[in-house]
Amino acid sequence: MYAGAIVETAPKSLLYSDPQHPYSKALLDAVPRADPSFVRQPVVAGEVPSLLDPPPGCRFHPRCAAAMERCRTEVPRLRETSRNRQVACHLFEDRGPAET
Ligand code: SF4
Repeated sequence: MYAGAIVETAPKSLLYSDPQHPYSKALLDAVPRADPSFVRQPVVAGEVPSLLDPPPGCRFHPRCAAAMERCRTEVPRLRETSRNRQVACHLFEDRGPAET
């Protein structure tokens, strides 16, 4: 969930091992690791938006490195991307559910 909106649903083991939504990936990448060889991705820039006046379109778009023009205006719908997994992101809208 980001800024009050569900961005991804999946069984816990699947979500932790293979997050798909850009926010899920960033969130799990921020978890401390005891592995010194682990290469951490850059921290997500920006601030969490106000829930009283969230950004239009995808609420994560001001902070998302993958944001496209449509992300600024179109709310991504939660859709099935594979068995037992739903993701709300325009990156996945042209893809049919994958076999798992
Ligand atoms: S819909 Fe766009 S801004 Fe939102 S997470 Fe997906 S790519 Fe990023």
